Amino acid sequence: MSRFRDSKFSLLKEYVPGEQPQDKKYIKLNTNESPFPPSPLVISSVNAEEVAKLNLYSDPECKILKKTVAERYGVETENVFLSNGSDEILNFAFMLYGNVNGTVFPDISYGFYKVFGDLYNIKYDAIPLTESFEINPEDYKNTNKFVVIANPNAPTGIALTLDVIEDIIRSNPDNVVLIDEAYVDFGAESALSLIDKYNNLIVCRTYSKSRSLAGARLGFAFASKELIADLELIRNSTNPYNINRLTQIAGTACIREDEYYMNACKEIEKVREYTRAELLKLGFEVLESKANFLFAKHNEIDGNELYLKLKGRGVLVRHFTSERICQFNRITIGTKDQMDIFLETVKSIMEEEK
Ligand SMILES: *Cc1c(COP(=O)(O)O)cnc(C)c1O
Repeated sequence: MSRFRDSKFSLLKEYVPGEQPQDKKYIKLNTNESPFPPSPLVISSVNAEEVAKLNLYSDPECKILKKTVAERYGVETENVFLSNGSDEILNFAFMLYGNVNGTVFPDISYGFYKVFGDLYNIKYDAIPLTESFEINPEDYKNTNKFVVIANPNAPTGIALTLDVIEDIIRSNPDNVVLIDEAYVDFGAESALSLIDKYNNLIVCRTYSKSRSLAGARLGFAFASKELIADLELIRNSTNPYNINRLTQIAGTACIREDEYYMNACKEIEKVREYTRAELLKLGFEVLESKANFLFAKHNEIDGNELYLKLKGRGVLVRHFTSERICQFNRITIGTKDQMDIFLETVKSIMEEEK
């Protein structure tokens, strides 16, 4: 740390992303990426001709991409916000709404919520999940605070129904409710249909998980035009060219081949249920997931030990060290072949434990 740094950052704990090792080839089940490559049109659209235009700035309004997203989801372009990964939407929203009356989110959820809370000196309550790692909806009603809920939640994978989400939004009319739907395409219900009804709702999405574009950094949000204008204010005051030329092209091509991705999501759901059943047979406790990952633990092996042994054998999963969840591992759903290797590896590790 330098002596020049503002002391208010002294205690800031940064977000720690999952490993992206470059040393050897792993079966990578640790950062919830898609195991499938981008669709053909994405690959052919980001071509030499487009790379040759990188001397020019990107369209700061992302007109083509925004129109494509709006049409795909049946909303107006003024209800769409585009960002450099959905982390950027979270960043802007915490900046805008977090300090008004304080913020609430679950104690076990996406790790970035706490980081933004600390970064902006926000008074936040990290509300404990229930014993069974579920969100108790009552905890989020009538809060009068900025409410942030990942649905499905991460790293549990457990989803709330749309009715429950709507009750939460309705009971917080004077503050913003942000529903982070990073994993919604894997089988949960979206709150998108509610944006016309509730002007306090932001629905946050990403291309990183269900659309095979984690490396392109593209997120999007739906909300009333007033909330979108708030987000635009911060975007234009920090980085109006937040989405680069190649990503705008990839994102547009992606939506045009939406069926490819929705089929891939169906396949991942199928492999998820297969993997869950196999882990249950091996004696694991596995939470019921509507996301592209499973959260699982076994009474006969320590969570960190399993993570390390898997890593030693070339299979990377995500282990969190915080007390309530340190016996669990989060396992991204890959292809069926990858999951079979994962299961075989787990089996052999468990046998050695005996
Ligand atoms: C992955 C993830 C994000 C961020 O995704 P980006 O890659 O920044 O779009 C946001 N919220 C949750 C819950 C996530 O798991």
